[in-house]
Amino acid sequence: MLTDVPDLQCRSISKSFADFNAVKDVSFDVPQGTFFSILGPSGCGKTTLLRMIAGFQKPTSGDLLIKGKSVIDVPPNKRPVSMVFQHLALFPMMNIGTNVGFGLRQRGVNRSDIEKQVKRVLERVGLAGVAERPISSLSGGQKQRVAIARCMVLEPDVLLLDEPLGALDLKLREHMKIELKQLQSEFNTTFVYITHDQSEALVMSDKIAVMNNGEFEQTGTAKELYYEPKTAFVAGFVGEANRFAATIKSKSADALEMATAQGQVLHGTDAVGGLKVGDTVNVFVRPEAVRLSRKAEGVSGLSNAGQGKVENVLFNGANSQLILRDELTGAEMSVALPQTGEFRDLSRGNLIHFGWEYLQTRVYTA
Ligand code: ATP
Repeated sequence: MLTDVPDLQCRSISKSFADFNAVKDVSFDVPQGTFFSILGPSGCGKTTLLRMIAGFQKPTSGDLLIKGKSVIDVPPNKRPVSMVFQHLALFPMMNIGTNVGFGLRQRGVNRSDIEKQVKRVLERVGLAGVAERPISSLSGGQKQRVAIARCMVLEPDVLLLDEPLGALDLKLREHMKIELKQLQSEFNTTFVYITHDQSEALVMSDKIAVMNNGEFEQTGTAKELYYEPKTAFVAGFVGEANRFAATIKSKSADALEMATAQGQVLHGTDAVGGLKVGDTVNVFVRPEAVRLSRKAEGVSGLSNAGQGKVENVLFNGANSQLILRDELTGAEMSVALPQTGEFRDLSRGNLIHFGWEYLQTRVYTA
């Protein structure tokens, strides 16, 4: 039977250590089958929050519900959750099958049922026929799958993942992002994933909560957070952005005219609302929003335009960037190199015109 009750509900959860508030009044729901990520910098409180959901730590206040039932007084091993740790915590002395069946043995399931369930879950994670092999015979990516299988065999309502890709090398991490998302949708289990890596969260998640300083700043899809960040922190943390400190000089409807201390005039939009003349603000523009032109006319119709000297070319295939120094103000700009190859020949010292639309400029109170 379909139900509207979310798999996980956190209601005004707070956690203090002495007089330090690590998690402050956090509330959110995670509907069944969602890949939900909590994204934030080191020390923002995400591990503390995950540990409270797992039951390893007791909230100072608030309530936690799984499938509509409060688990606040339920010990960790009795909660319908399972956790994948950063270092996976596999038992090196046991073979793969014994690792995967560990939780079932603890629950007192009989031997032949354990064997059947272990076999089935190993097939589902693409590791059929390896139950007898030692853990040491697996690659890093296969170990990740065994760690997931060990949790999924227990059929948790919610799987908690504590930066499980953190210990992998870059190439494998890129691959595992796709694989984890695929495994999650195949199992159709609710995942709560914590990470400080925005690219992991953007690629895998149905919903992302951006956490800062113990609080959720914004919750939304990857696209919402990227294109419509509600705070300066989210604009700076999710995706890359050029950032300027400025003062608002004039305002008409949602259009703002601003000036930096170096005299650069910027035009932007009050996307969040409430800004007024005289406010000191943080101004953000994405590298891919900036257009390049060899002639001044190519950018003169844009609300923000200038000329810059190429300081550096950061070649990275499709993600290549130019670092420009504004000739007039000395401000540094990061600009994504267009895929067309049109500006491929640019090198250090060349002059180039650049510009962008005011609607591509997001402005927040400093
Ligand atoms: P990281 O990614 O580095 O693990 P995090 O976002 O997971 O960071 P937490 O580990 O939740 O952050 O820590 C949040 C804050 O709470 C930190 O300032 C940390 O020092 C503090 N903290 C966590 N556990 C305790 C504890 N047991 N006693 C005192 N302070 C703690």
